[in-house]
Amino acid sequence: MTTLEHVKALKDTECIVDVLLNEVKKNECKTCGKCTFGYEGINQLEMILSDITEKKGRPGDIELMDDLCGVMKEQSLCETGEEIAAAVLEAISAYRKDFEDHISKRGCRAGVCKKYMTYHVLAAKCIGCGDCMDVCEDDAILGKKKFVHVIVQDECTQCGKCLEACDEEAIVTAGAIKPRCPAKPIPCKAK
Ligand code: SF4
Ligand code: SF4
Repeated sequence: MTTLEHVKALKDTECIVDVLLNEVKKNECKTCGKCTFGYEGINQLEMILSDITEKKGRPGDIELMDDLCGVMKEQSLCETGEEIAAAVLEAISAYRKDFEDHISKRGCRAGVCKKYMTYHVLAAKCIGCGDCMDVCEDDAILGKKKFVHVIVQDECTQCGKCLEACDEEAIVTAGAIKPRCPAKPIPCKAK
């Protein structure tokens, strides 16, 4: 499947930014170097897309990619550069909101980009054992024995250690749709 075909057949479980980044990373322009627009363009694209998946996107990134790909499409010496540029332009046109949501830090709709994931404790499952708190090096978890623990989102660095530590499967990750959780520790109902 070409990149353009992949963009057109994007599944709900895929993130357009992540898909493009992976396609750009393996694109032959990265190592060819016979034309400046293909070589420089692909490396610029990789930097921008990588920043967006890492929650470091900036306002203007979409316009920058749009301009860059317009030139790449016209000036690349072979189809490799033209095709990837056409795929990125199609992606921007069809999935602009997904790009905007990443850049404005609203989230990754598909729940693919790790930096946009949030971690939550499900009140119905938490037994208040404290194992998650013990492994959290960022002091991002509030709680005490037999109380439902609560993750403070502003402090969480998405390391994932609490998820592994919880034997009750009370900790879950979420993308755009977040589970309802108590704002502060409350007595546990789960035994
Ligand atoms: S979230 Fe899991 S590890 Fe943390 S206190 Fe609740 S049951 Fe224990
Ligand atoms: S994901 Fe890491 S930083 Fe966030 S609450 Fe869990 S252990 Fe702490």
